[in-house]
Amino acid sequence: MNNLIIFGPPGVGKGTQAKLISDNLGLFHLSTGEFLRRAISEGTELGKKAKIIVDRGDLVPDDIMIGIVKEALLNNITGNGFILDGFPRTIEQAKALKEIFEELKLDGIKILHLKADNDELLRRLLVRGRDDDTEDTIKYRLNIYSDTTKPVIDYYLKNGNVIEIDGLGDIETIYDRILKKLNNHGYI
Ligand code: AMP
Repeated sequence: MNNLIIFGPPGVGKGTQAKLISDNLGLFHLSTGEFLRRAISEGTELGKKAKIIVDRGDLVPDDIMIGIVKEALLNNITGNGFILDGFPRTIEQAKALKEIFEELKLDGIKILHLKADNDELLRRLLVRGRDDDTEDTIKYRLNIYSDTTKPVIDYYLKNGNVIEIDGLGDIETIYDRILKKLNNHGYI
């Protein structure tokens, strides 16, 4: 079973690349951000609770996010493998994911770590213009990324399954880089 995590700061292109990868490699794409935005637009209980948090650029509590991911993976373990996009974002989530893997008897996972500098990220997010892409919220999310999410990569580096990708360039260039690295690592 081929499972991937696409990891990196807001605006680095995780969603775009995850979609290309999942379409071309036939993986189940789980974007936790998309999942929340859908709940928000449908006005579900989860959506109502999440809207306030997402709009101000904060992280939705770990227990909620872990529950969402666990259920989604449980319903999709028979497929070709999956790509997680936007999860884990905290050490707590990474630890819970390890337990979910053990419980569901899933194989190891590779982490695609996409990188770009803050000026480039700010520029990209400002043109993207999602509801949570105002300048203040973007800066706040970039801070949360440095303080809370980035340490997750150190957690995975200890296991030696991180693939570093330069996230600068156009969509096709970055996708090519990802495919080459996946190839080099014997993933495809
Ligand atoms: P994204 O689409 O990945 O940029 O996520 C958009 C927003 O959804 C984030 O700024 C958070 O408010 C929330 N979110 C998405 N994934 C997570 C997660 N794993 N943990 C906590 N909050 C999340």
